[in-house]
Amino acid sequence: MKEKTKGLFSLDGKVAIVTGGNGGIGKGIAQGLAGAGADIIIAARNEAKTAKTARELKQEFGVRVSGVRVDVREEEQIHAMVKQVLDGFGRIDILVSNAGIAIHKLPQEMSTAEWDENIEVNLRSFFICANAVYPIMKRAGGGKIISIGSLTSIFGVGALPAYGASKGGIVQLTKSLAVAWARDNIQVNSILPGWINTDLSAVGKREVPGLTEMAVSRTPAGRWGEPEDLAGTAIFLASRASDYLTGVVIPVDGGFSVMA
Ligand code: NDP
Repeated sequence: MKEKTKGLFSLDGKVAIVTGGNGGIGKGIAQGLAGAGADIIIAARNEAKTAKTARELKQEFGVRVSGVRVDVREEEQIHAMVKQVLDGFGRIDILVSNAGIAIHKLPQEMSTAEWDENIEVNLRSFFICANAVYPIMKRAGGGKIISIGSLTSIFGVGALPAYGASKGGIVQLTKSLAVAWARDNIQVNSILPGWINTDLSAVGKREVPGLTEMAVSRTPAGRWGEPEDLAGTAIFLASRASDYLTGVVIPVDGGFSVMA
């Protein structure tokens, strides 16, 4: 048993793609995975931000880090990115499908184009990224896919109809992929972050009066989360420690989702 538990959470020799890994929650997760030993590919649009984060990760953790410019709305760009990673790193063990946007509009004020955009960036991209890495993971004998939902995977927010639909869909897609690919030794699980301090939530704080205080008072832990609060759960879901765990949804929310 001692031998089996040794290095249970180690990601040494593993290669992880983190979409939207150049900032916010994606960066917090990338830091966690790099700290556990994984080489990291940051896939996002803003090349300057990606290059800066890649430099920081390399310096801090001494792993291989590469940035790839990709717009996750574009299927061809996702496939090109996956090919580039496979050519450069020789393997893909972990996918964190994290890239996301939140369009704040009441349903009656939201255009169909806005609906489509939010669903494409958040949900459709997860479907495409997961399918793009699937044959590589299957051939290698296994892999780990982590999706990023939200408290809106559970709760309704009036001004986030498309965002909430995308995040609800992410959870259900996670479960379908988990069932479909369990025999391929690919585990697919979802993290639901609570209120986390990032650029995305800063917009919410600006637009919704009292949001900052509401999140603190409604969160049993009594504070906003930070991107690094997601790192531990991501390491667990990316590592051998979670090999018999698939299709589950883990809220990392300071207790928000369980408080009556
Ligand atoms: P940020 O805005 O800080 O980060 C979003 C990331 O997604 C950026 O790296 C951005 O990079 C990338 N991105 C956005 N659009 C695209 C695109 N079309 N193609 C490729 N990359 C894209 O937000 P968060 O860190 O807060 O959000 C990360 C995830 O966590 C999202 O899925 C979000 O829904 C989820 N989440 C966040 C919560 C919070 O409180 N902050 C709570 C619950 C869930 P670039 O602009 O360079 O492309």
